[in-house]
Amino acid sequence: MITDGQDGFDPEALRERYRAERDKRLRADGSAQYTWIEGDHAHFTQDPLADPAFHRDPLTDEVEVLIVGGGYSGLLVGARLRQQGIESIRIIDRGGEFGGCWYWNRYPGIACDVEAYTYMPLLEETGFMPSHRYASGAEIREHCRAIARTFDLDRDACFRTSVTGMTWDEAAQRWTVTTDRGDAIRARFVAVANFASLNRPKLPGVPGIADFAGPAFHTSRWDYAVTGGGPEGGLDKLADKVVGVIGTGASAVQVIPHLAAGAKHLHVFQRTPASIDFRDDRPTDPAWAASLTPGWQRRRIENFTVLTSGGYAEEDLVQDSLTRSVATVNATFRRMRLAGEDVGDRKTFRQMADFRKMEAIRARVEAEVANPVWAEQLKPWYDQFCKRPCFHDAYLATFNRPNVSLVDTDGKGVERITATGVIANGREYPLDVLVYASGFEVLGSFQRRIGYPITGRGGAELTAKWTPSAATFHGMFSHGFPNCFIMTLTQSGRTFNNVHLLDEIARHIGHVVGECARRGLATVEATQEAEDAWVAEIDRRAPAQEEFMRECTPSYSNFEGDIAAFNPRNMPYGGGPVAFFDILAEWRAEGTLRGLATTALPG
Ligand code: NDP
Repeated sequence: MITDGQDGFDPEALRERYRAERDKRLRADGSAQYTWIEGDHAHFTQDPLADPAFHRDPLTDEVEVLIVGGGYSGLLVGARLRQQGIESIRIIDRGGEFGGCWYWNRYPGIACDVEAYTYMPLLEETGFMPSHRYASGAEIREHCRAIARTFDLDRDACFRTSVTGMTWDEAAQRWTVTTDRGDAIRARFVAVANFASLNRPKLPGVPGIADFAGPAFHTSRWDYAVTGGGPEGGLDKLADKVVGVIGTGASAVQVIPHLAAGAKHLHVFQRTPASIDFRDDRPTDPAWAASLTPGWQRRRIENFTVLTSGGYAEEDLVQDSLTRSVATVNATFRRMRLAGEDVGDRKTFRQMADFRKMEAIRARVEAEVANPVWAEQLKPWYDQFCKRPCFHDAYLATFNRPNVSLVDTDGKGVERITATGVIANGREYPLDVLVYASGFEVLGSFQRRIGYPITGRGGAELTAKWTPSAATFHGMFSHGFPNCFIMTLTQSGRTFNNVHLLDEIARHIGHVVGECARRGLATVEATQEAEDAWVAEIDRRAPAQEEFMRECTPSYSNFEGDIAAFNPRNMPYGGGPVAFFDILAEWRAEGTLRGLATTALPG
């Protein structure tokens, strides 16, 4: 047996097992397998908190900056613009308040899974301290409100409003933004902050979804009228109900312990098991909070990003399951190399560490799940970052409850929904209530995810320009779309802590709008040359991502294994987040707005 000499596992056998498990899950229809939420299924995206009586008169006024999206993206742009002295800012969101994905996702057990002191932005600026290491969804919404209050972003915000289009008026040098409330608002600048990745829920690609006679809903539109209880649990209306949940991703992992506690019986329909690491939540220590010195949060956020993107730092300020394992790997590699030991190449070293990590994850399953068949079925066989790693301390033990059954489908997924239940492995499971924990259109088309046309100079539409490949300068500017900032992962950074990326983009947008004000500029727009050069840089960095995608088990991050659908130009910058943030910081420090064509304000 070939081993790494100390762990007793066979790396080649593991790799073979990973490939075999991946191959079981590969399917010709890739991302197209899913059922999009439209037509017969449109009710799955309705807002359970919608107020049918809500009315306001249409707006036809003018603002300096109009931001589409009131989640952390929009709030961060708003905050960074305020810090640049920009007065007139309007945020538009189709939800009923600030929060973005945290507005829509209110399922029981919802909490952040990157520690709150790192994930929740602007803690020092807002004076907000999370009550726990992993803040609940309700606390995160409260924090979103605190950002809005601190930066006076609630004053002009428009909720329950969907943007239907934005069009550049060359003569007026303004955008006109239309909405489903009859608004036609003029804006000098627009920020597209509504399509980070989790804004469009999707359903499994199986027939019969519309046939189910009982209540059924997606995790991002939780129906407490059906389940009773609230985000803290206590789902008392399920006590006499047999419930099914389809999916075992990051949302399901948080939901399942609560469904199990509330339901008469819970069937968990699994296609691919999640990787479940330790979470170790605890209340915030007031003495620790009092000991923090100015700038602590930025240091912590940057430290987390360095460690989780493969970099080296002397210290691990966060010390969660994730940073501990990656920091140890990188520190060990460095120590051994400095000591002149034979460490081999970094890639192989990291792969061995990943095998070791996943062996520990699988050992945890065996230690916690009493039923040996289910324990085997709950073991993940892929590299840790092929899917979003999950962190939970109650999930695995939930399968020891007498009222919970795991319905593993050996990678095939459920087959059909009927009027009375779900068919899996050729057998019908009768259900009273069905929960879809089936995720989001994370890498869906730009048209679907943005959801409205963005018409720039000469009538060009942004998503048409970006078909089949995006073309940007630094991910946020696109030639032909003056004064338009796009917040996206595409051709931009990618971080495990997505909010860090959003804040770096927000700072950059704030800087550019601030420079326009200071220099008396009417417009800024990426030049064709700057855009071409950035796209060439995206191309240059692409191959490493492609190899990772090929090896991984299907998930949203590799287009469900359909590598033909993988277009490196629509992916994040391959140099990693730290390099990307450095590129932006150096560009700002140059102070010349390099790559942006500008026009001056008249007079
Ligand atoms: P995911 O896409 O991660 O999970 C969807 C689940 O549905 C998967 O388990 C998938 O199986 C399963 N599925 C799809 N089709 C079928 C089928 N036909 N039969 C059975 N199962 C099926 O969505 P989530 O909502 O869980 O998570 C999405 C993202 O949201 C996360 O990756 C994370 O970024 C974010 N998130 C963050 C949280 C936090 O910060 N606390 C919490 C929750 C989510 P398969 O794996 O085989 O595809």
